[in-house]
Amino acid sequence: MTRCVNCGSERNADQCPSCGLDSSIAEMVFRPRFMKSTAVFLAGSLLFPYVSQIYPPLDLDWMLVFFGLIFFIGLTVAVFVDRGARNHRDIEVLKRIYAGFIPLPWILAAALFLNGKLDSPKNVAYYPTTVQSRFNMRGIVRGSRRLVVRSLRPGQKWERLAVDVDDYDRFHDGDAVVVGVAPGALGINWFYGIYRR
Ligand SMILES: [Zn+2]
Repeated sequence: MTRCVNCGSERNADQCPSCGLDSSIAEMVFRPRFMKSTAVFLAGSLLFPYVSQIYPPLDLDWMLVFFGLIFFIGLTVAVFVDRGARNHRDIEVLKRIYAGFIPLPWILAAALFLNGKLDSPKNVAYYPTTVQSRFNMRGIVRGSRRLVVRSLRPGQKWERLAVDVDDYDRFHDGDAVVVGVAPGALGINWFYGIYRR
């Protein structure tokens, strides 16, 4: 007993009793749907790093690790779905797992976007500090430049601020600066800006 790639119904013969397709036709019908959902997953995966530069959370590096895991596991599941469909295997469980992964990059991106967009500039807290160090993580995603400053958050010693190229070039170790941190409409603290003192 296996399940139809197209509709998920149990089938004992090559032809599915529910949708009437045989296994190779079922795969042909399933494939464009699979490609479309994979395109949706990849688009969300491109969107997330982009939004994370517009409203960079203070804990961006952890979020990028989390996002990277989702991306990697999602793609791995997609490969197994693809291979299973090609070989006319029962992929019903894999299809459901994959369907759960597809919206995740979109949800993460939407959360970061709303967190920053719905926040008011009135809520931004500015505090004086000094640039401790700066580093550029090459070869990862764009926006991998960080300025390290003392943190205002309790229990947190340093912040690795995700700055753009201009700010990265503008500031150097030991510079006296003012850092703006916004609380975030969804409670995710994010980096508003850095200014010379
Ligand atoms: Zn079927």
